[in-house]
Amino acid sequence: MQTLQMEQAQEKLQTIFGYEHFRQGQQAIIEQVLAGHDTLGIMPTGGGKSLCYQIPALLLPGVTVVITPLISLMKDQVDALQEYGVGATFLNSTLTAAEEQKRHAQIKAGAYKLVYVAPERLEHPHFQQLLQAVSLSLVAIDEAHCMSQWGHDFRPSYLRIPEWLEQLNDQPTVLALTATATKQVRADLQQYLHIREQSTVTMGFARPNLRFEVKKGVNKKEFIRSYLTMRKQESGIIYATTRKEVDQLFEELSAAGFEVARYHGGMREEERSDSQEAFIYDKKKVIVATNAFGMGIDKSNVRFVLHYSLPRSLEAYYQEAGRAGRDGEESDCILLFAAQDIRTHTFLIEQSDRIDERQAMEYKKLQQMTSYCHTERCLQHYILDYFGDEDGESCGKCSNCVDSGEKIDRTREAQIIFSCVKRLRERFGKTIVAQVLVGSENQKIKQFGLADVSTYGLMKEWTQRAVADMIDVLTAEGYLQPTDSSFPTLQLTEKAVPVLTGEAKVLLSETTIPEAVEEQDDIFEALRQERKRLAEEQGVPPYMIFSDRTLKEMSGKVP
Ligand code: ADP
Ligand code: MG
Ligand code: ZN
Repeated sequence: MQTLQMEQAQEKLQTIFGYEHFRQGQQAIIEQVLAGHDTLGIMPTGGGKSLCYQIPALLLPGVTVVITPLISLMKDQVDALQEYGVGATFLNSTLTAAEEQKRHAQIKAGAYKLVYVAPERLEHPHFQQLLQAVSLSLVAIDEAHCMSQWGHDFRPSYLRIPEWLEQLNDQPTVLALTATATKQVRADLQQYLHIREQSTVTMGFARPNLRFEVKKGVNKKEFIRSYLTMRKQESGIIYATTRKEVDQLFEELSAAGFEVARYHGGMREEERSDSQEAFIYDKKKVIVATNAFGMGIDKSNVRFVLHYSLPRSLEAYYQEAGRAGRDGEESDCILLFAAQDIRTHTFLIEQSDRIDERQAMEYKKLQQMTSYCHTERCLQHYILDYFGDEDGESCGKCSNCVDSGEKIDRTREAQIIFSCVKRLRERFGKTIVAQVLVGSENQKIKQFGLADVSTYGLMKEWTQRAVADMIDVLTAEGYLQPTDSSFPTLQLTEKAVPVLTGEAKVLLSETTIPEAVEEQDDIFEALRQERKRLAEEQGVPPYMIFSDRTLKEMSGKVP
């Protein structure tokens, strides 16, 4: 039965926003918010989170404060609402003092139902004063995963929101919204905001109009050129990891005659907003960008999202890929994979100055991302599984569902690897196992007496890199499992046992064992430069600069 409030909500949806029906999830969230329950709403990117606070804002008596991370997008969001005739404004550091005062006066006079701010603004004395003079009905926290250290985009200023809420005179309803659904993030948000499990609304994560594909062993740049040629009239995003990659791709594609825009954090503010606009208003069909681009951008007709290099986690991947097909039309999400990318990320994690626990988590996330690239399961399934969504059917159109391809019998190699892991008493990680198998002359191997293990050198016709890749594949297929620690060691799973006893075969598709095609020298060059800089800073030769991990290994704590 529809309550009167929900009837009014429905009416706003139709008359103001022009949509016929609420989407799954929106209805439940709005119902709860209107009933005054603090709510956590989890919905995929493009699911329609904005309406979940915009519509209640119109129906509730007081003001709704919307906390959102990016100052650069506030204006667009507010402009869009004003076009619908909704009274909305924003307060941020781009305003002159006079403009700020004017807006404060308008807010006090009740001219706006919605006020957008960044979390930093909450503690601003002017803003605190303003709050004394208005009544708050709702506080919406957009991109709420920024509050969790386990989220992929943690912002310390978000952490102060709970405290700010507590010292308010009013008791507004709180609505936290995010597209990140992992258990840890969810638990953090519930805890920080005192939201009960039954007030958490999750919408299915499936995006059936997205077609996922992992491309291995292709020349990435060639692939992108021919793909863009094929889809000339269509809008798309190409994500790369580093600014340098973005610049290079941008220049090469421009030189080859493609009309592309470019976006990364190293560009000037002005250039960035020009690029963003050119893309949003279809002046440039394609944008090459780092992950700095895209949060909160609502462009409905993005027909493809290509990943030129591996993202660092599946959360990040799904969020970025999810920017395709918001309008519900068929769209492509293609990830170009090279084993080299894993090494790049591993290197970046090692170089980062993080606490062990955090590094361990990043390794694990990278491992899960890599497993996505190697899995033979339906890709759509794999992702939904990761986010804890259950869904029976295979999608029937991802690259794994479509070409199951030729299988190669890799039972013998798998047996050798499993037996090596076992003989090393499951005490070592991927690198050492691979080194033992190819018969590496590495000092450490000798030092630990590993050259005497019976599997030493059994795969000497393989490169160490290829063995490590094979281990990744076997991990993705669930035969091996790395432990959950800063120095993950490999363990056999139950699935590996029948392979070792000869009762089960390991069949892998031909493309599953990838070889690095392109060297990403530029990243290593950047790291070399960084090492040089640190060396100069510390007054030692560059070869004396070690990662934290290496230092620990050398101190003999962990092999
Ligand atoms: P999110 O913040 O969850 O990524 P948005 O709030 O930006 O998503 O909405 C994504 C798109 O879906 C927008 O173009 C929006 O207008 C549209 N949309 C939202 N709700 C509905 C609905 N009930 N019916 C049709 N389109 C909707
Ligand atoms: Mg949004
Ligand atoms: Zn599939």
